[in-house]
Amino acid sequence: MTVSMDPLRFQPLSFDCEVLNLYTLDESTLGVELDRSAFFPAGGGQSGDRGTLVPAGYTPSDTADAPWRCIVENVEMRPEGLLHLVQNCAETVQKLAPGTRLHAEIDRDKRFSDLQQHSGEHILSGVVCGRFGYTNIGFHLSEQEVTVDFDGILTENDICKVEDLVNEIIWENRPIRVFFPTEEEKSHLSYRSKKEVEGPLRLVEIEGVDLCACCAPHANTTGEVGALRILKSEKNKGGTRLWILCGKRALLDARAKLGQNKRVSNLLSVKQTETADAVQKLKDEHAALLYEHIGLKRQLLQQQSDAAPVRDIQFAALDADTETLRDYADRLAEKANRFAFVCSAGDEKQFVLLTKTGADLQPVMAALRQCGARGGGRGGIMQGAVKANEEELRRALEI
Ligand SMILES: [Zn+2]
Repeated sequence: MTVSMDPLRFQPLSFDCEVLNLYTLDESTLGVELDRSAFFPAGGGQSGDRGTLVPAGYTPSDTADAPWRCIVENVEMRPEGLLHLVQNCAETVQKLAPGTRLHAEIDRDKRFSDLQQHSGEHILSGVVCGRFGYTNIGFHLSEQEVTVDFDGILTENDICKVEDLVNEIIWENRPIRVFFPTEEEKSHLSYRSKKEVEGPLRLVEIEGVDLCACCAPHANTTGEVGALRILKSEKNKGGTRLWILCGKRALLDARAKLGQNKRVSNLLSVKQTETADAVQKLKDEHAALLYEHIGLKRQLLQQQSDAAPVRDIQFAALDADTETLRDYADRLAEKANRFAFVCSAGDEKQFVLLTKTGADLQPVMAALRQCGARGGGRGGIMQGAVKANEEELRRALEI
């Protein structure tokens, strides 16, 4: 089965081909050059297509059928040519020897998801340019996030308006035309382009919204984009960076966030529309309790230090913040002929070393450094951190 390919839309999604060359790119990656390909290579802020290679005459989707399969993890345009990246192992080198006839299948789900994001980005850029006159100066499409950069400031209000307009256009199901204009047509056209185009100019037109030079696969109509959500915005180099998601990815994102909100709603026994107020109330109550807790803890420590008998060296380990450690060390030092050593609990301990009798703390600090302590100070107080257990510390302090 050999089929011709449509360079306008990177169709079809499966085709027969032959291995021309096999390059070792690094220890883990081989680059397969084919005599033909409908795979979209990474570029313009977007990762390449993924897919599967099997021997000619088999189909990758029929797992029981094909004697072997090779996963194309990405596709890149390299100086050697259009390379389909596969795992580097001796077996693969043997299977994909130059001259081998293959059948290739492109991962339809990734292709469709990427084109939903990419066509959505074009609609968004057309709307922002038409309404605010800002230019799209950066686009990044990965499996983790999709970002678009504009060279002007968009307020929260602007962003809501833009999101509404983009979705109206999506629901109007406008045609998306991909074409190579003639030299004559080119001279009359005004189109967006991030950089000077080398070679034939491929234009993507969204009727009444946008005309842009672009090499990527696109939806046939705006309706295929499904929906566009603007999730986050940040000021970026005098402009605005928007985080967007379209189509199925927007749906999955909304589902995950709804799941989070459902959990919060169940945990706090409030309606899903009232979770933020309930969390705020909980935070306020927590802050008040924490304040009370710290006050009570200090009172308790005060009582403990008041009741402590006088010793040469006072030693204490507490589950407390640095301020409390310092406060307690200050009180305990009143009951120490030489010094007080107070540290926090845990593996890595904060410590305060304090004297009120003018004892020389330098040799004590030197002994602590033998235990791996860092830190220092002057006069009657030293502070730092140490990774040691209580027994090791007591030994270092000669208690
Ligand atoms: Zn594009």
